[in-house]
Amino acid sequence: MIKKPLVLATRNQGKISEFRDFLSIVDIQIKSLNDFGPIPPIVEDGKSFEDNAYKKAHLTAKMLGFPALADDSGLVVNALGGAPGVHSARYAGEGATDEANNEKLLREMEGVKDRSAAFECVIAIAVPRGPALIYEARCEGEITTRPMGKGGFGYDPVFYYPPLKKTFAQMSKEEKNRVSHRGKALAELRSEFDKVLIWLEQRLAEEPF
Ligand code: IMP
Repeated sequence: MIKKPLVLATRNQGKISEFRDFLSIVDIQIKSLNDFGPIPPIVEDGKSFEDNAYKKAHLTAKMLGFPALADDSGLVVNALGGAPGVHSARYAGEGATDEANNEKLLREMEGVKDRSAAFECVIAIAVPRGPALIYEARCEGEITTRPMGKGGFGYDPVFYYPPLKKTFAQMSKEEKNRVSHRGKALAELRSEFDKVLIWLEQRLAEEPF
């Protein structure tokens, strides 16, 4: 077992429990930012999900001296040139509610024929010196013309997944986890975690402290 813990670079309780569930079988101690004192906030100003995931994982690892895992995700709509993309959380403005973001999206998509879209998720695992592993996954779907379903969060009520004929907000948690961008990226990470542990052991041995 690796002596250092892997730190989940988030204080979002929902994400922490999702990651803990997925990684419960792996042989490494899992901590989160909630186990540490205050650290300076990390500005998510990258141009891609990968930029942001890497920045969060690397800066957290550097500040705490432990390997760290971060994810970044969002919705990419083809007819909107990839928007809202890295701005998904604040599409209708800084601190916007999910409802406001969904309303703006439906307004922008009024009368638009091509409703294809995808959720994307990138997970980065970085060590303090900088090297990182990157996992990414997509889930293809379509933007609805009105919100449908009560579950989930964010853009779930307006994201229709044709194979199950449901929006993400109409799915159970288990159904969504099986097909979602985050679920798929986490499943791939978990299936390879034995290799991740070897990689971490080797990278940590190269660290100067
Ligand atoms: P972050 O990865 O926590 O930065 O999430 C960015 C934003 O993307 C969220 O605030 C949501 O608006 C959106 N998002 C990411 N994943 C999902 C999802 O599974 N369902 C709905 N919205 C999502």
